[in-house]
Amino acid sequence: MAALTAELVRMPTVNPPGEMYDACARYLGERLAARGFDVEYLRAEGALGDRDRYPRTNVVARIEGEGPGPCVHFNSHIDVVTAGEGWTVDPFGGDIRDGRVYGRGSCDMKGGLAASVVAVEALLDSGIRFPGAIEISGTVDEESGGYAGVGWLAARGHFSQPRVDHVIIPEPLYKDAVCLGHRGVWWAEVEVGGRIAHGSMPFLGVSAIRGMGTFIEKLERELYPRLEQRRTAMPVIPDAARQSTLNFNSLHGGLPEQAYGDGFPAALVADRCRIVLDRRYLMEEEEDDVRDEVIAILESLRRERPDFEYELKELWSVPPTMTDPGVPLVRALDRNILDILGQEARHVASPGTYDQKHVRRIGNLENCVAYGPGILELAHQPDEYVGVDDMVASAQVMAGVTLDLLQGEI
Ligand SMILES: [Zn+2]
Repeated sequence: MAALTAELVRMPTVNPPGEMYDACARYLGERLAARGFDVEYLRAEGALGDRDRYPRTNVVARIEGEGPGPCVHFNSHIDVVTAGEGWTVDPFGGDIRDGRVYGRGSCDMKGGLAASVVAVEALLDSGIRFPGAIEISGTVDEESGGYAGVGWLAARGHFSQPRVDHVIIPEPLYKDAVCLGHRGVWWAEVEVGGRIAHGSMPFLGVSAIRGMGTFIEKLERELYPRLEQRRTAMPVIPDAARQSTLNFNSLHGGLPEQAYGDGFPAALVADRCRIVLDRRYLMEEEEDDVRDEVIAILESLRRERPDFEYELKELWSVPPTMTDPGVPLVRALDRNILDILGQEARHVASPGTYDQKHVRRIGNLENCVAYGPGILELAHQPDEYVGVDDMVASAQVMAGVTLDLLQGEI
């Protein structure tokens, strides 16, 4: 399992732009084909980001059991984020030491992928007979929304009944925790307008940056305190994410500082200032209200300041999703976590979205959770690693869950 993880880490499937997707998908496909899986390579042609230099190749492998029955599907994304700074090991070296596999993507989520592959291989090796089918997929672009990966496959029936009944996504959310879903997302760009003038005579213009300042100040004073009071019944981790949140992903006003190549912007009153809002919302909130409370603040500024002008553009949104903890998939995980780890399973929800959104909304399949080894906080960090013991424990759980679901013993 550690060797497979290391092999996968040595393929720098960095997104963007989407390096080595095809090689990684084929490596996985060939391994599973050798075990009797039917393997399909599905390139998301024409999807966002897909081009011949960076093909969006997904791999879906399926093995049939004996006779009709449900299908359990393990889905992992094969892409990783860029390595970034601050590493003390080679981010793509796949070092194995002190019981850990190091490297970009080891935790998020090549370790989870390897655990699911080895879990299913062990099940096949055991000779235990089962009805139904098992699928393993390696999909692209999760780190950029999954539209050429799970989203694209879901639109083509790969994540819907009757083909698939239960989906486990081995994202790194701790071996003793079942992740039922995630909060919602609403992104919008707000552009505040102004009137250009000479920087030495700002009274002749209208500063879009000062206008933006009043907007941010009003958000601080009026919206942030309200968001902090909205607690959710969703078991979001970490605890600080169990409320509504708002981040400013970017802010820009005036000419670029490099306008003259020397770090000085022009002496102008800025006539445009843009901000990108990243609002994470709860099951208890409606997207319409999330939008309306921002618009209400902008409209009140328009009334208070005659020069205040704005445009709001919605960029993307995903509603919150949470799987019913009573479904057989969750009960099977609870039981196997208790049996194998000797502790009660924790039910959690993720602060950010992941590919479950496509399974739920496009595939219309509720039986989907994230369960996999690794420590969430290590994802996207330097010196990312996954513990081999964690992988082994979660693979045992995955094998047990697969058998329980296929044999209908839940
Ligand atoms: Zn991930």
